[in-house]
Amino acid sequence: MTDRIIPLLDERVVAVRPPLPHELQAPDGRVADRLGRPLRDLRISVTDRCNFRCTYCMPKEVFDKNYAFLPHGDLLTFEEITRLARVFIDHGVEKIRLTGGEPLLRRSIERLVELLAVLTTRNGRPLDLTLTTNGSILARKARSLVDAGLKRVTVSLDALDDAVFKRMNDVDFPVTDVLDGVQAAAAAGLAPIKINMVVRRGVNDQEIVPLARHFKGSGHILRFIEFMDVGSTNGWRMDDVLPSAQVIQRLDDAFGVEPLDPNYVGEVAERWTYRDGSGEVGVISSVTQAFCRDCTRARLSTEGKLYLCLFAQRGYDLRNMLRTGASDAQMSTALGRIWQGRGDRYSELRSDETVRAKKIEMSYIGG
Ligand code: SF4
Repeated sequence: MTDRIIPLLDERVVAVRPPLPHELQAPDGRVADRLGRPLRDLRISVTDRCNFRCTYCMPKEVFDKNYAFLPHGDLLTFEEITRLARVFIDHGVEKIRLTGGEPLLRRSIERLVELLAVLTTRNGRPLDLTLTTNGSILARKARSLVDAGLKRVTVSLDALDDAVFKRMNDVDFPVTDVLDGVQAAAAAGLAPIKINMVVRRGVNDQEIVPLARHFKGSGHILRFIEFMDVGSTNGWRMDDVLPSAQVIQRLDDAFGVEPLDPNYVGEVAERWTYRDGSGEVGVISSVTQAFCRDCTRARLSTEGKLYLCLFAQRGYDLRNMLRTGASDAQMSTALGRIWQGRGDRYSELRSDETVRAKKIEMSYIGG
């Protein structure tokens, strides 16, 4: 398999600077985009740095020692993130996921969790606050995250076999440390714990059944993610995608599984359960079963750019508005207009041409 690594032309700079609106529009929590999709789910990248070099996300050849990560001053402060979170909640956001890079590498991340964990949605319910981590330092952080108010977590784990896992993370990081992190998270009371495995045909697909066997009966929810053409650097080819239907077939052959209804409209994972009642498992099929029709997700980059799709090519610079004196009402009006203009449905339109297009890197806007 010959991965072709394309040098990164810095897509991070491509952003629209929304003008400061003069006519203000108060949010009613029901803003909808051009496909009638509400804004319910915000993913916030709190750092573009990571201690892994997963080949499908941050290939070492590109994110090497010369790579220009963002200087700290460019990152949104925790106060700026919290201010923006309130503006998004006013438009209907009910769930916030902290991502990266590796979010636990951001110093004092617990402080941000504290600030966000006290927020409530428009209908007075607690915000659904979660975080996606590679688990590398979770064993050390789990307790303090819970004390700060975090309720649940998602851990990325691409194999149970140590050699395969090290090949996927490409920094020789041992699987046991991530498993220790999962255990520490459970012991600290984080629940449910979701485990995400990105499946790359011919690299780690042989790990599907062993990983399922490991987590079966644990109460943790294992999800298998189709390898995606995110960004412009991971050498994606359709040949390397193992369709979720084949993943389910393997699980059914090994354990017996049957489908479950979604928890809510717009849920990313398709839910399945083991016939013997020993737990839930899921698949996330952006390539073979696009779910753009119900996509209610927005993404905020580490330096305050808003992206309307994981496969976006440009963002909207909200940090500039924040730092040039925009009021919350102006931020809110601008956000409402941006969302109303959204028509993204990349996975429904994927083609050879779109695959080659320069897209923002997943490590910059979070998965
Ligand atoms: S491809 Fe874009 S629009 Fe479609 S589900 Fe993913 S993020 Fe949403």
